Amino acid sequence: MKQADPNTAHLLCPRARPARLSLVLPVYDEQAVIAPLRAAVNDFARALPGELELVLVNDGSSDQTLALLAEWAASDARVRVLHLSRNFGHQIAATAGLDYATGDAVVLLDADLQDPLVVIHRMIDRYCQGYDVVYGQRESRAGESAYKRFTAWAFYRIMRSLVYRRLPPDVGDFRLISRQCLNAVGEMRETHRFLRGMVAWVGFPQVAVAYHRQPRVAGSTKYPLRKMLAFSWIAATSFSTLPLRLSMIMGALVGMIGIEEGIRALLAYSLGWYTVPGWTSLTVLVSLIGSALLMSIGILGEYVAKLYEQSKGRPLYIVARTFGTCSNAERSDAAANLK
Ligand code: UDP
Ligand code: MG
Repeated sequence: MKQADPNTAHLLCPRARPARLSLVLPVYDEQAVIAPLRAAVNDFARALPGELELVLVNDGSSDQTLALLAEWAASDARVRVLHLSRNFGHQIAATAGLDYATGDAVVLLDADLQDPLVVIHRMIDRYCQGYDVVYGQRESRAGESAYKRFTAWAFYRIMRSLVYRRLPPDVGDFRLISRQCLNAVGEMRETHRFLRGMVAWVGFPQVAVAYHRQPRVAGSTKYPLRKMLAFSWIAATSFSTLPLRLSMIMGALVGMIGIEEGIRALLAYSLGWYTVPGWTSLTVLVSLIGSALLMSIGILGEYVAKLYEQSKGRPLYIVARTFGTCSNAERSDAAANLK
């Protein structure tokens, strides 16, 4: 386990275990995962003193996921299902779940059991020491391809060095968040969401708990390359204006090449060097300049598009139906009965 963060250790104020713990799980086309998940959650709940709440967000699944979740909610009063009207993507589904969770501490995790539930006990210990965010740091990633491991490794390094230095490396969205910190994150209603960056941004004492990431219990990843690239782009552009500056740097570089070419042409002319009628160099220069201009405009456009989308002020997600919503008193009675 990592040592206390020296910057925040003096702020720690020990506290009681969370009276109610919420688990938030975004679920998208995971019908094969629901049965093992139910078993794992029941095992976990038996070892957990205090009340447990489950917020399962069905992110517009097209398979039997919703039916299975609704059945689970009907038979287990700790379960609450939010059914989103379509697929909004993992970050938004997670946001919906975090908004609806009512626990004193909330844990966000994958439905596919890649994030082992037993790690949550260690997270709670850290919470009791006074940490507001306890994130799972992957020591190993079993059952994932070398390609996936490499892209994830590169992603965290690039994000940290170029975009957001406070982002902890090898940390996904698996984390425990205290109520106070969650309320702060809930205030941030930006359309383009990079949750782990947002949680880092709000501050509060944060600490890592090392764990071994498990292979998926069933099904296949819902993050194909296309979604991963889109996610990285949102992460980079929602947390930094560096890409805008990059286009300036690129412009400057191309400008310098232009100046160098100009000086060379002048020298060649005045010193009588051999010159080929400069078709090639001209084409190279024109394409360089054209590409730098277009890329700069493109990057600018990305930010303008984000402003435009944000300015529409649309809701982040639409909850079409909920299942298993009952009063807190009813829920705790039912939870007590189930134990
Ligand atoms: N997920 C989601 N909406 C999406 C994609 C994924 O709710 O559009 C859920 C998915 O069901 C899983 C979690 O987000 O519970 C993480 O996805 P996945 O396990 O496929 O990603 P990986 O662990 O492979 O990066
Ligand atoms: Mg997963």
